[in-house]
Amino acid sequence: MSKINNLKDDEDLFIADILSKNKTIAMVGASKNWKRPSNFVMKYLQKHAYKVVPINPGNAGQYILNELCYASLEEVPFKIDMVNIFRPSKFCLLITKDAIRIGAKTVWMQLGIKNEEAIRLGKKANINVIYDKCPKMEHSKLSGTLGLAGFNSNLISSKRPNIKIPPLASRNGGFVKSNELETLAIHAGTRPDPATGSRSVPIYQTTSFIFDDTDHAASLFNLQEPGNIYGRLSNPTISALEQRIAALDNGLGACCAASGHAAQMLALFPLMEPGTKIVASSKLYGGSITQFTKTFKNFSWDAELVDISDLNAVQSAVQDNSVRVLFAESLANPDGNITDISSLAEIAHEAGIPLVIDNTMATQILCQPGKFGADLIIYSTTKFLSGHGNAMGGAVVDMGKFPWDKGRDYSKLTLPNSSYNEINFYESFGSHAFINYCHACVLRDLGATMAPLNAYLTLTGLETLPLRMKQHMKNAKIVANFLKSHPKVNHVSWAGFKENIYHELAKKYFKNGFGSVFTFSVTSGYEGAIKLVENCNLISHLANVGDTRSLIVHPASTTHRQLTIEQKEKSEISDSIIRLSIGLESYKDIISDLDGALSTI
Ligand SMILES: *Cc1c(COP(=O)(O)O)cnc(C)c1O
Repeated sequence: MSKINNLKDDEDLFIADILSKNKTIAMVGASKNWKRPSNFVMKYLQKHAYKVVPINPGNAGQYILNELCYASLEEVPFKIDMVNIFRPSKFCLLITKDAIRIGAKTVWMQLGIKNEEAIRLGKKANINVIYDKCPKMEHSKLSGTLGLAGFNSNLISSKRPNIKIPPLASRNGGFVKSNELETLAIHAGTRPDPATGSRSVPIYQTTSFIFDDTDHAASLFNLQEPGNIYGRLSNPTISALEQRIAALDNGLGACCAASGHAAQMLALFPLMEPGTKIVASSKLYGGSITQFTKTFKNFSWDAELVDISDLNAVQSAVQDNSVRVLFAESLANPDGNITDISSLAEIAHEAGIPLVIDNTMATQILCQPGKFGADLIIYSTTKFLSGHGNAMGGAVVDMGKFPWDKGRDYSKLTLPNSSYNEINFYESFGSHAFINYCHACVLRDLGATMAPLNAYLTLTGLETLPLRMKQHMKNAKIVANFLKSHPKVNHVSWAGFKENIYHELAKKYFKNGFGSVFTFSVTSGYEGAIKLVENCNLISHLANVGDTRSLIVHPASTTHRQLTIEQKEKSEISDSIIRLSIGLESYKDIISDLDGALSTI
């Protein structure tokens, strides 16, 4: 049966099947120039046991990578399984006709190449058609070759990876497809170790990776072949985590960083230039406000904070042509404000800029911002994702949908890069451009890389994320209700209460609960708040959230201390407000500790 790669759900299985069955590939438009993508895709496929036949009238009779080049498909004297097209879309119909005539079973149009008539013709002729994809990138994703970056293959497996993709005949080639968060949290990104069979992902505690020969080294350095070079750019333990985090968001891929703040820098750096501007919510984590409005000024990046519940204000702020990104938190830390993600996405996309959502507080278990139009999703994995208060980390997930060449000026992604032989990231890697740029340029040059041990701890933590989040939500609901009915408590800002102004948005965007980080205020002001915090004996007084332990902090005297009075007012941090992060202890003990502390004020 003919298949076309627009059926997102079984796309990866479909492509795995093609890559396992099509062994002889004619490459139309193959180039002798080692800097051209066709040349290095050919080289990669040869290395992975495919026979590649170059087709190029300009080089007919000559050899490209030790293979005789033909002028046309019809001149090839043996059977061709698949035709891979490196020619502009307008030529694809003719090439597809030729491919059908010589009996090829698959036509594969390269990244950025798509011809509707050719697709229709292929379908009629009962052959497989793939477009806008690269066989090298798909192969490295599916074969589990531990590559440069964590791309989400959408397939999981308990079988050891092999450089050859196994035929799907053996029960789906050893692959399982799952969309269930409980399964992905345990399996995504972590097939058994290819070298040892170790079922748990090893901590690749190394700074560098050997080259097979000088040619391999050159291919890696030129980004012509995916692979590890040096630990500042990538590491297999971290790649495994990147794949898992991306899978939980149903994203294209992810890049991890040393902390949540490093992830914010990582997400913004590819998009920003000196003189450009971020429009962000005025209700952000205090550290993010400082990073955006003070530290990023040193890069000559400007930041404008707006009240994102006022969509007109957002709309007018993004009109400024220097704006490159709209940034908000799905569930804001610490007040629990909930963002109308779909409306922001619409405004951002109309202006030609991406929407970046910090999803740290909600996690994928409550909210998948990509479903509502977010383009990039940020995490401080330090919080719920690792979940045990023992590993710093951050991640940026790319949904892979933003057209970098069509929005405002994203020249780091769309112009030749002088540090990599003038390759154009968007032309060479298509939707993978952003994540590849994060590794190959941002981590390489700014160096805020996650440690392999922290990646391992975070992978382990993630296995129980769905379970933990459900218990966090259950405890939070009970504690919020206890506080609400306490006479010394003024207000509890938990979105689960019907009267909470964010309740309706929470119902639209969240599942499984309303957050376990919220604030409340006491009737006795600053003094009372401090006394209460100091009299908690089970709940820990510290500046973190999303731990198994319950945590308490007084923002006005800690996390939000560096803000100006005006900024504090904008983020509504008044003196008597206390932030709680409800942990996984018995709710009876959490309530008893709060009750005891409240009795002292
Ligand atoms: C903690 C936090 C950050 C910063 O993350 P670090 O890992 O501490 O660098 C960013 N955003 C939110 C919402 C956070 O809670």
